[in-house]
Amino acid sequence: MSIDRFGRDITYLRISLTDKCNLRCIYCMPEDMTFRPNQELLQDDEILRLVRVFADLGFFKFRLTGGEPTVRANVVELVREIAHTPGVETVAMTTNGLLLDKLAAPLAEAGLSRVNISIDTLDQMKFKKITRWGKVEEVFDGIRAAEMAGLGVKLNSVVVRNYNDKEDVVDLARLTLTQPWQVRFIEMMPFGDVSDFQQAGIVSEEELRATISQELGPLSMVDNGRLDGEARLFHLQDARGTLGFISSVTQPFCATCSRARLTADGRLRLCLLREKEINLLQPLRAGASDQEMKEIITEAIWWKPWGHKLGQDVIPLNRVMSEIGG
Ligand code: SAM
Repeated sequence: MSIDRFGRDITYLRISLTDKCNLRCIYCMPEDMTFRPNQELLQDDEILRLVRVFADLGFFKFRLTGGEPTVRANVVELVREIAHTPGVETVAMTTNGLLLDKLAAPLAEAGLSRVNISIDTLDQMKFKKITRWGKVEEVFDGIRAAEMAGLGVKLNSVVVRNYNDKEDVVDLARLTLTQPWQVRFIEMMPFGDVSDFQQAGIVSEEELRATISQELGPLSMVDNGRLDGEARLFHLQDARGTLGFISSVTQPFCATCSRARLTADGRLRLCLLREKEINLLQPLRAGASDQEMKEIITEAIWWKPWGHKLGQDVIPLNRVMSEIGG
């Protein structure tokens, strides 16, 4: 068991498989982003060893993210090994979906259970503006391939004022009338070099719900507002799917947080919105035993922070989102 000093049971690890991405979403990283040299990143055997150590500590839910996890060489074999590690119950992935057309079936066969696919608008021009060069049709090919492969699918949309905060949000929400999907709207969070842009462009959950209900009718709360992971769920009348709101900035969900993140360069980050990280790569490469790694991780988890300090202008500046692993 990995418990922090507030009594939270930390059992969910998100692993960034790479800091690299095949898109450059404006809210995620600068266009001229420089990536880390490969030797500074966790190698396959190091990831698998850490997964075994975390699973021994009671972690059972794993999510692969990035950067873009599907651009990592060997991603299918990594999923297979992780999914077959004793103690691991689910392996999910957050992806932009561009490579799922080819990878969804092998990933599902290897043991992946779910994908969260990022799609911020259905409009090709705006999609290009947000991602800097993506094609929205390729994301849809990925969604279809994931469904065909039997993967659970949720859609993630980060909302940015003056980019996709009006009809795009309504169009995405409308998908739930005919599709059994969970479409989740994520409040934009500020990080590193792009934090000014992010803070100026944030759209709150309250505003989003008002925009959607004005066009599509009232939203009813699902499960009395109980969180599904980090999302508060609603549904439109007669909808097949649900709408989720992930409001880390205006309504943080620290009390139910069970997450820790492993960055692509092997740092354990206990809170997305706080800079504190513990270097696991260094002791791993210096020959630490599994027992020693467990002690380092257990101590780090004990000190997992509570709450962001954005209200006091404390913004995590040491990394952008693609480096942490969203
Ligand atoms: N490349 C993958 C993708 O597009 O989903 C995985 C990595 S991406 C960093 C993971 C998630 O973080 C995506 O849903 C993305 O939209 C979201 N994200 C990136 N920057 C963000 C920010 N500043 N605030 C909120 N969410 C952000």
